[in-house]
This record gives sequence, structure tokens and C-alpha cells, in this order.
Amino acid sequence: MNITEFIAALPKAELHVHLEGSLEPSTVTEIAPEVSADEVRARYDYRNFSGFLEAYKWIVLLIRTPADYALAARRLFTRLAAENVRYAEVNLSVGVILWKEQDVGAIYDAVRKESLNAPFPVRWIFDAVRQFGPTEALRVAELAAERVAGGVVGFGMGGDEARIASPEFAEAFRFARAAGLHLAPHAGETTSAESVWGALRLGAERIGHGIRAVEDPDLLAHLRREDIPLEISLSSNLMTGAVLSLRDHPLRRIADAGVPVVLNTDDPAMFRTTLCREYELASVEQGFSAGELRQLAENGFRYAFTGSARGS
Ligand SMILES: [Zn+2]
Repeated sequence: MNITEFIAALPKAELHVHLEGSLEPSTVTEIAPEVSADEVRARYDYRNFSGFLEAYKWIVLLIRTPADYALAARRLFTRLAAENVRYAEVNLSVGVILWKEQDVGAIYDAVRKESLNAPFPVRWIFDAVRQFGPTEALRVAELAAERVAGGVVGFGMGGDEARIASPEFAEAFRFARAAGLHLAPHAGETTSAESVWGALRLGAERIGHGIRAVEDPDLLAHLRREDIPLEISLSSNLMTGAVLSLRDHPLRRIADAGVPVVLNTDDPAMFRTTLCREYELASVEQGFSAGELRQLAENGFRYAFTGSARGS
């Protein structure tokens, strides 16, 4: 069995994938016939984080109805199942839905229905957008809290890390935690290790990206001691310019420091990747052995918010 077959056969979990970033060009042309697949491919090409955010804004504005979101979800689940994914937690950018002044309830009902028909268990994480500010983040936390019994397991926050400092979001995270939601904000992707400390002070149980932790030995030791995993996405980090090359990506150093790691796609269509490809990159570019890849795959289940390690 070669490494590609080995990875394909591994039962995997996907814990950090944005529904909005999963629309392949062919799906985009279905929901927005005025756009060509070539235009989508051109839009999905960038070399830095602001270029990515621009493309993300463009794509979310094309997702206009609950049926569009449902189609995106259906396609994502079909692709993940083909990769032998057995469990997924999917980020829904509720902050963006509010910004678009769309009906969060109708959209969530539509995607939830799709997830109940998926060939593996799916849970949802509602994401706020950092640059939209604390009041909007609290609103997202409230909308998530209303659906704790209906498939939503987490509250997260993405967007531009450099824009607003973490403490301003304490109320939203406190509210979410008290409502029984798990906390998985993005941090330490484009800025610094301090951003990860800020997320930890908000109560983060997993960190989206967090790769800047490699710059702070005390932080690495803390993450190891507290058993807090980093959700790492190699292709994403390369395409947003968070790292200059995959060879230099800190994944290996972070894992060798004993910090738990899960591998994810983040925005698979927008970063032209798949979960299997992320495992292959860990093997080829970072020298992960078959045994280490198996450990990474097991981490996906261990650190799931419904997993045995964390309960829920
Ligand atoms: Zn992300």
C-alpha cells in the first residue's frame, strides 16, 4: 500500500472546514449562473491574506438563499465521505449571514437538514467575524446558544486578527461557554503567539491555526500541558502567505514539542485542497511517518467536541 492509499484508507475527522470556503467552481456556477467556472478559478487565486479575504467576500455574496447553502453542504458531505471522513464539525459564518441581512434560522434549518442526511455525523460551529466587533459576536453566540440541542456544538471567531484585540470579545465567549458551547476561535494565524494567549484567555478549547505558537516556548509548553490542540491547515497557510513554504511550515516543530495537532482543510475549494491532500503534504513536505499520520487522524476524533476525550 503506498502512502496515498494509506491516507485514503485512514478513517478521518474534519474539525475545521468553512462551508462558505468549500464551494467548488462547478457548484458556484450552479448557484450563480452569471459566473463562469474560469472566473471562480481566477478569484480563488491569491498570495496573501487580504487577497483571500477579498475572494471570500466575493463568494459569500453569491450564496444567496437557504437552498444555496444547502447545496453547498450536500456537496461538501459527498466529497468528505469519498475521502473516508467519518465525522465533521463544519464552521458556518453566521457573522457573515447577519452582515448580508439574511435569515440565519432559515439557512441553518436548511444546512442542518442536509447534515442529518449526511453519511456520517456532522455538527456545526457558528463563527463570528472579528472585524464586525463584540456586539455582533455576542449576537452570533446567542444564535448558537439557541441551537445547542439542535446540532450546534461550538462558537468560533475568524476574520482579521490584526483588527480588534481579543479581550473585547470576553462577554460573547463567556455567554457561549455558559450556554454549553465549546470554544474554537481562530488565532495566531497571521499575527503572533500573543494572539493565541488572547484566545486562551477567552477560554479557547481548540485554536484555529495557532501556528505562531511556535515562536513562544512557554506557549507550546502550556498547550501541551493543557492538552489544547491546534487545527492546522497547510495549504491555507501557504496560500494566505502565513508561511512562505511548506518545508518551512512549523507543523513539525509544533508536533515535536508535544502539542496536539489536528489536520484540516479550512476552505478546501478556495485553497484547492482536500483532507487527504493535507495528510499527503504532511508526509511529503514535513516527513510525517505513517504512524504519525495515523496519530493525526486519531486526534481528529479525540479532539472532536462530541468525542470521548471532551464529552459533550
Ligand atoms: Zn478557518
